[in-house]
Order: sequence, then structure tokens, then C-alpha cells
Amino acid sequence: MSSFLGTERRTLRAGASGTRDRLVARVARMAGWLSRVTRMGAGATVPGRIVHRLDPGFIRRRAAALPDGIVVVSGTNGKTTTASMVQSVLRSQGISFIANPTGSNLLGGVANALVEAAPGTRMGVFEVDEAALPRLVPLLKPRLLILTNVFRDQLDRFGEPERVAALLRLACERLPDGATVVANADDIQLWSAVQACDPIGFGVSGISVSSDSGTEAEPVGCPSCGAELEFTHRTLANLGQARCERCGWRSARPRHRARVVATAGLEGIVFEIADEIVTLPVGGVHSAYNAAAAITAVEVLGIPAGAAIGALEEYQPRFGRAEEIRFEDHTLWLGLIKNPAGATVLTQQVAADRRVGAVVLSVNDNDADGQDISWIWDADFETLVESGMPLVPGGRRADDVAVRLRYAGGQPLPAQRDPLTALRAALDAAPDHDLIVVLATYTAMLDIREALFDRSTRVQDAATA
Ligand SMILES: [Zn+2]
Repeated sequence: MSSFLGTERRTLRAGASGTRDRLVARVARMAGWLSRVTRMGAGATVPGRIVHRLDPGFIRRRAAALPDGIVVVSGTNGKTTTASMVQSVLRSQGISFIANPTGSNLLGGVANALVEAAPGTRMGVFEVDEAALPRLVPLLKPRLLILTNVFRDQLDRFGEPERVAALLRLACERLPDGATVVANADDIQLWSAVQACDPIGFGVSGISVSSDSGTEAEPVGCPSCGAELEFTHRTLANLGQARCERCGWRSARPRHRARVVATAGLEGIVFEIADEIVTLPVGGVHSAYNAAAAITAVEVLGIPAGAAIGALEEYQPRFGRAEEIRFEDHTLWLGLIKNPAGATVLTQQVAADRRVGAVVLSVNDNDADGQDISWIWDADFETLVESGMPLVPGGRRADDVAVRLRYAGGQPLPAQRDPLTALRAALDAAPDHDLIVVLATYTAMLDIREALFDRSTRVQDAATA
């Protein structure tokens, strides 16, 4: 063993950087394989972490070796979907790229994707956790940084949105010369945090949050003078356009704004952008934001909006974001929830969709979900209750979900911590409907998928899209 390591070390010093990178990658892959067969870890991020430990220059060198550079996506909501939309457009243009899998968005996951990069790969498209971003930006030196939004999320991990905005600002300041920031111009807090980096904006209009939505309550202060802003248009939570009565400050004008012309519940959303009409096969105003971000971003890379739109109309969502699974002659529609803004969008979409027979609301409190689940009190479950659909509280915190739904005036079915029991309860409550919706936090979604494994046929295999 010691002679093996000794040989490796000598080679690391002597070889050219290409040879060295291949060796480091081989050792790391072996470690990943070991961790999988010994079940010590997930294996998905272990090789990456080992690579970085063995050779701190690895990420920097491998990133620099990609001829068309690196795109990074960060922000509270929509990272995975926006990155996946950018990837769909690149794929449609025949551009080879590497990406990190969903959930592996820390240093280890990014390093691991670089380990796995096939020869001839031209680009990297990575979603990066907000807290890991300031450290990864100097290593990756991205040519393009896409920032989706800053919402209240997993409070026990990040603290307040102000702290997240500060992390994103720091990351922008660390970008290499000539890099471009594409940011959500409707997110006043985010935009003002990164304004000094001269961002290119995207936004959405043509749709308004209902005035009784709980998420509208939070006031937003003027970035210039601190007075409370007056919204002229509000699309979702704190997103929209505003102005300050006191000092005359106004929201920035985005380069591209998606103007929503029609919505179709879970099925899709139609909007106008860059003088074209887009029919996106995933629903919700948040999907319009993600698509507007992707269209604006790929234009920076030299891909015209028209070409991007063509690719997005064929878009297939990734795991858990919005995917359909067949289960006991019913269609299950799975949506991921993790914070009030995202959950509110989904619950309103579901409530408006008359095909939905019943809804399972599954909340876990593991590390990956955020242990503080108090956000369920800020999400709009009232609209869902008013729709009259049977609701099944599920997940480790099923009892808390039940309390929340009763507080909203609902009469939920009995709480079911077991995923299969919860699904069956929903099916039994809606015998005449084909469509059952499951809204779940990250690990609750994993539990449901595990329970369904071998019992279902996927209608759309989103993970491979
Ligand atoms: Zn002001």
C-alpha cells in the first residue's frame, strides 16, 4: 500500500498537469467506488472531495481546460431547473458540456463532475449552493453567473435573505474580468446586492399574486433610502416591479421580460418573450422566471433567443421538480417544495387544476430539507384548502402538516408518515380521478420514490432528460 501511494506521489510531482489530473482522477474514482461498495457514503461527492484534498489545484486546472468556459447558476429557488434549461439549449446546439447532478451542488459535487468529464467536453454548467459560491467562483472562474432569486429558505442553514444576498454579492466581486452576471431584475434585494457588477436582467409580467396570499405580507425596503416600496406589479412573493414614493427609486428594466399570456395549471404556461410566443411544457410563474433566465443567459453565450425557445418548448423537467409517475392506474405528479414562495406557487397551481383528485403534502425535517419547518406557516395552503380537494398530510412531520391545514380551515385526511400509506389514502379519496399530486420536501420526495421503486412505470423519465 505504501509503495503504491509512494509511486503515485512521485508521478504527481514529475508528470505534466494532464497526466497528473488523470492520476488524481483515477485515485478519486477508486475511492468513490470503495465508498459505494462499503456503503460509507453516497459515492457521488466522495471522489470530488478526495480530489480537492489530494490536489487543491485540480478544480482550477480542469475548469480552465474547458474551451468554452463555465456557467454557474445560484440562488434560492430554481437553480436546478434553470441549469437544466440552459443544458437543454446547449444540447440542442450540439455543444458538449458537463454538469453536476441535482443536490450535489457543493465543492465535492462540482469537483466530481470535473473528474468525470469526458475528453472533448467544451463547457461546464453547474448549479452551486449559495453558501459554497464565494469559494467556488475563484476556482471555476465562470464566464457567466446566473442568479435566480433570494427567498427565505432553510433558515437554520443560511439565516436571513440579507446574508444570502451578501454571499451572492461577494461571489460577483470574485468573478474574473469580462464575466457576465445575469440576475433577476424583479428581485429587488438580489438586484441591489449585485448591481455594482453591472448585471443583465430578466423578469416576468402579466401575472399577479392574489392579494390574500400570505407571502405578500412582507414589506420591502427601498434600496436607496429604506422607505417602504410600493409595488406596481407583483408576480410572486417579493418579486415584481416597485418604486419609491420618497426618493424616486425604481426597479431596473430587464433585458428580457416574459409576459405571461396564458396559464394551464400544472401542464404549462404560455408567455411572450423577445417578440416570440413560448409554450413551456411546465406550469407556474416560477417556470416562466427560470425560462426567462435561461433565454437571457444563453444569449450572452451567443445563442439567439429564437433557438433557445425552440429547445425550451421541448423541455423535460428534472427529478422531482415536476414529473409524472404511473402508480396503480393513476398518474402521480411530483413537485418539490422547500420554502414558502416555491410552495405557494405550486399549491396555487394545483388548486387551479380541476383534473387533480387529491393531494399528498409530505414534509420531512432532515438536514437536506432544513430542520426548521416553520416555513409551512408562511406558505399559502389556504388556496388549496378552499379548492375542496382531499388532502393527505405526509412525511416525518405529517402531524405538523395536519395542524397547518386545519388552521387554514381544512379538514385533512388522517396524517400518514408512511409514504405508500399516504399515497393509497389519496387514491382512495379520489377514485374517479386519474391525477394525484404529491408535494414533498427533498428527502420526503426521496422516500416516496424509494417506496414507489419497482411498483411503477415512469411516464416521463425526467432524470435522464
Ligand atoms: Zn427610496
